[in-house]
Amino acid sequence: MQASPLPGATPAASGSQRAGQPEERCDMCATPLDPVHSHVADLEQSALTCACRACYLLFTDAGAGRGRYRAVPDRYLRDPARPLTAAEWAELDIPVGLAFFLRSSQRGQVCGFYPSPAGATECTLDLQAWARLGESHPLVSSAEEDVEAVLVSRADAGVEHFLVPIDACYELAGRIRLLWQGFDGGAEARQAIEEFLGSVRARARDLVPET
Ligand SMILES: [Zn+2]
Ligand SMILES: [Zn+2]
Repeated sequence: MQASPLPGATPAASGSQRAGQPEERCDMCATPLDPVHSHVADLEQSALTCACRACYLLFTDAGAGRGRYRAVPDRYLRDPARPLTAAEWAELDIPVGLAFFLRSSQRGQVCGFYPSPAGATECTLDLQAWARLGESHPLVSSAEEDVEAVLVSRADAGVEHFLVPIDACYELAGRIRLLWQGFDGGAEARQAIEEFLGSVRARARDLVPET
């Protein structure tokens, strides 16, 4: 199987997910974790590692971040000063209404993903169009390699774009994989996407321009 920078995108044995989930523990030191906890990206395994606060903090330093592990930041950003236009979105030629984009250090490029029966499916991305977008949209170029993604959603009302932590994308992909039905995903998958967008909107702060 091709290595994916988005492990949530590869189909897993969803049958093993039981209702009574065992208590989650830190993958590094086995400390019990709250349901809401931090994650560290394991760049070697292309996987997310659940981490307690103490272990998480070991990998937040930018200088330490060149190794195997990198802490996933918890910031959500929007940039009302530089909205994406429908024309700019169309230039990316993404055949769906919602996608997220992640710069992978292993692949040395930006990869795009959209919700699918597998959770998320990689889509071909016009890298030059993406680079142009980054030049005119600071939020797009602010996403930290491997641990943050740019989420773009196109609806009748317009195009929204956000910077989100990569673990939020994995979580969405996991939910979509469980809920997807039929050709277009069905009502439950659509609702999960709407809920996800709602929580992103609620958490997003405005991007502060660099001085
Ligand atoms: Zn720990
Ligand atoms: Zn976790």
